[in-house]
Amino acid sequence: MFRFRTESSCSTTSARTGVFDTPHGSVETPAFMPVGTRAVVKGLRSEELVSLGARMVLANTYHLHLRPGEDIIAELGGLHTFMNWSGPILTDSGGYQVFSLEHLASIDDDGATFRSVVDGATVRFTPERVMAIQRALGADVVMAFDECPPDPRDRTRVERATNRSIEWLERCVGAWHDHGGVESGQALFGIVQGGVFEDLRRRSVEATCSHDLPGYAVGGVSVGEGRVDAMLAVDASVPLLPADRPRYLMGVGTPEDFVESVARGVDLFDCVTPTRHGRTHQAFTSEGRLNLRNQRFARDPAPLEEGCDCPTCAGYSRAYLRHLCTTREMLGAILLTVHNLRTFHRLMEEIRTAIREDRYEELRARVRGSQPRL
Ligand SMILES: [Zn+2]
Repeated sequence: MFRFRTESSCSTTSARTGVFDTPHGSVETPAFMPVGTRAVVKGLRSEELVSLGARMVLANTYHLHLRPGEDIIAELGGLHTFMNWSGPILTDSGGYQVFSLEHLASIDDDGATFRSVVDGATVRFTPERVMAIQRALGADVVMAFDECPPDPRDRTRVERATNRSIEWLERCVGAWHDHGGVESGQALFGIVQGGVFEDLRRRSVEATCSHDLPGYAVGGVSVGEGRVDAMLAVDASVPLLPADRPRYLMGVGTPEDFVESVARGVDLFDCVTPTRHGRTHQAFTSEGRLNLRNQRFARDPAPLEEGCDCPTCAGYSRAYLRHLCTTREMLGAILLTVHNLRTFHRLMEEIRTAIREDRYEELRARVRGSQPRL
């Protein structure tokens, strides 16, 4: 039902291509998963996502629990039917949201209590509860409930969160096995925490990988620190993860992050950057990030990026996009999201081809050279 196989490897880095089989289809890796927090990648239809190169999407347990509620989604046939997406889906456990939102009321060894952003009601998340919510939502991959500390350099908090995440993983694994494990049609991924501390990362990897799970994730990386710290966390975690399972780096990031992480053996990514930047009128191009509200595009008949194979660049000029963005027409955000997502998926295709042809270093150097820090 779930299988991961490596197909080719780079001779000079840890980059690899593979295929991750799920009950809703196979995903070629390295892959980028667009973020559909509320069971929608904002502004886009499912069939558009497929045409842009998306094979697997992410939805969020925390947000879907609050609205519309997992019971309604289950009653309507589960997340795939509900959002009209027939490919694989991964649900984030909500740990990141619970601990990053200001509405957290309290946290203890058993779970976390917070106030709903929708109606102010008190909500309690425990590992068992989060697993039950994810079971009802029906995604292919479900994430363990972890504590994601807000500052990855705060050793005291990071250590406590790491220990708590290890204990909570035991409970998630227990709940997962109680409902059939992989036979349930859902794969549980464990999440490695440990902030920027090598010893904590190592301890977290050892404890997480002591459970035989279909995949493993590196978490706590996208919470405010810069790229160097992210790579420290990746270096301290990824080489210790089993080679025969997919490795998912949560919430990262930019083209430069991708090529650096892939070189270190990462297979799966998700990030809000292409969609969120699209909505704030920013386009990812090989020249770096363009702000489409800029006056300099007012008379520019060129597409966002010459040679881009996305539907936006096929017919729309920078001048028209600027007009849509400055007048806040919703089509502007949609067209930019389309271009950004296609740019990210095309980079993943280029990454896979470069690894297969054993010229990954060449691609890595090109991306590092052409992509300013975004
Ligand atoms: Zn384009």
